[in-house]
Amino acid sequence: CGIVGYIGHRQADALIIKGLERLEYRGYDSAGIAVLSDKLSIWKKKGKVAALRKEIAKNDTSGTVGIGHTRWATHGEPNDINAHPHTGGNGRLALVHNGIIENYAVLKNALIAEGHTFESDTDTEVLVHLIEEIQDEGDLALEEAVRLALNRVEGAYAIAVVDSRNPSVLVGARKASPLVVGIGEGEYFIGSDASPFLDSTRRVVYLDDNQIATINLENGLQIKNTENETQPPFIQTLDMQ
Ligand code: GLU
Repeated sequence: CGIVGYIGHRQADALIIKGLERLEYRGYDSAGIAVLSDKLSIWKKKGKVAALRKEIAKNDTSGTVGIGHTRWATHGEPNDINAHPHTGGNGRLALVHNGIIENYAVLKNALIAEGHTFESDTDTEVLVHLIEEIQDEGDLALEEAVRLALNRVEGAYAIAVVDSRNPSVLVGARKASPLVVGIGEGEYFIGSDASPFLDSTRRVVYLDDNQIATINLENGLQIKNTENETQPPFIQTLDMQ
């Protein structure tokens, strides 16, 4: 039930794990993280963030882009496979999701007919396969494929997505689940709320429903809605007592 994302110049794993621990109060049954370096790597575990922390300590998780998730299962039992992040058939994309994709069954059947095979029992995995399918049809930028996919989705979501072909881009979007972008010095964060990154920055943009945030390390933060209209980010500075 929590999302954390990071793109910048620091190691993503420690920042994301710490952020997930700050979202633990939201409740969850599993946790996972994806990190981009020259390749995409995903680690996920049923149980506490502490179990995930232990798991990644055994591995090389270096990379300055990543996304993390704490899951509260709605579709598919809590286990390692159903934990997020999820990836599509070619292992290029990683996606985390809070909420429910209501029309996942129809989309899943259509994707299976196109040759996709699914690993998990989640509604979420359908969305990452759909993004991949759309991206491959038109050789589209990640954010455009995400936008087109969201136009075909019914339900509630906050998502964060990375693409190993575009390691300087992090995409987030929301509808009826919260998502906030943190703007730091040469680095950006995504969170279900601002608590994961408050010790790094107080400059935040709360996304509205149907908005897609594209964070590009070269071009900064850009926001569009699902109708493809550009919307200037409203940057707030949180003051904390
Ligand atoms: N519906 C998704 C799942 O069951 C996401 C649940 C959540 O919000 O954590 O995996």
